[in-house]
Amino acid sequence: MGLLEADQAIIYGRIVENLRLPSPVDAYFKTIILPGFSDAHAHPQVVDGGVVGGPWRNSYEWIESRRLAVDEAAIRSDLDLASRLTVAVLKRALLEGTTLIALTGALEANIRAFLMLKVRPRVVFLPTVMSKKGWPSLGQALEAARRVSMFLDDGSARVGVFLHSIKYAGSDAVREALVSAASKGFIVGMHLSEGVPESGRLKVILKGQKVPGRVVAVHCISDDPQGLGLRCAACPATNLILYRRTRKTLKGITSFGSDWPLLIGTVPRHLGIIKGVWRRRLEEILAKATLGGYRDYGMPYSGDLVAFDVSLEKVLEGSALPRLVMVGWNVVVNEGELLDGESYSDVLKEIRNLVFEALEKHPSGERVGDPLAEAEAALHDALLARHQGGIAASLSSLS
Ligand SMILES: [Zn+2]
Repeated sequence: MGLLEADQAIIYGRIVENLRLPSPVDAYFKTIILPGFSDAHAHPQVVDGGVVGGPWRNSYEWIESRRLAVDEAAIRSDLDLASRLTVAVLKRALLEGTTLIALTGALEANIRAFLMLKVRPRVVFLPTVMSKKGWPSLGQALEAARRVSMFLDDGSARVGVFLHSIKYAGSDAVREALVSAASKGFIVGMHLSEGVPESGRLKVILKGQKVPGRVVAVHCISDDPQGLGLRCAACPATNLILYRRTRKTLKGITSFGSDWPLLIGTVPRHLGIIKGVWRRRLEEILAKATLGGYRDYGMPYSGDLVAFDVSLEKVLEGSALPRLVMVGWNVVVNEGELLDGESYSDVLKEIRNLVFEALEKHPSGERVGDPLAEAEAALHDALLARHQGGIAASLSSLS
């Protein structure tokens, strides 16, 4: 048995000085975080955020007016490409220090990716239900979840369903999923109140019934679904990109999601944004960014940790990469590299190639563009607008 030592640590969301932790590995770091980061909402097959032409008022307006460079349904049905996209997401997640990730999107491709990798984060599979060509119905998704959960519910993974939204999954599917699927122990996730308050509508759909199981609402910008018994995974980076606003208070948020891991990285990369938006106690932010996702999805976290050779302050800026990552006490990232020697820049190159492969194989015909550069520029613009807004607000409060 070895000893992990650190100047500073975050243990279950609490700051601890001079940590000495028995572990299979013997090493010293400046910062250790236990458990590692959780990404409670990620679309692994999104290679184009559809950000050109924004900002929009809400998700429905965005979905109806965005112009994608790729054909999303064609990517979903290209099992080979879709699973290689998910492999890249899982590798990127580990190299950024994300030890748990919840994946929406194509279930078969996501499972295939999970099985292709020897080392991986813990994964929650949430196949997306949508009443649209190319997406499964609730019945099909639940049947797939049932089959998969028989051999995957072992602590390394869990399965549930993801309702795209009240509008696109349909009220009947929402009610059935929330009342019947959740009561049978399936995790249910759903986009909710992404620019339009929807908790009231959900209350009507539920006919006053309380949600019986574990339901994770994603975004909750416009109201608070806590009263209905729902958890809330906030995605500040994509909210700022698409709508130039995000949920006002940290209260009610139980975890964070990245939404588009291929384009803007997973949750630890967004720590600087999260810290800038909510300016609350670091422990509260870190508890939600680490333990939060594990609690939302009822996942074990024993032996999941990330270790950095920079200070906690630097980690919170969102640009530091961990030197060591462990999942279930197994080393998955060592000296900043995956066990096969792949580095962060190798994986970013791989992602770039995959995005361009998707553009080439499945063009929408609507427009051409570089979705990686577009997402990066949109995030930059959103942060700049927010910063200028902040300056404007502080100037007006002085006058
Ligand atoms: Zn989403």
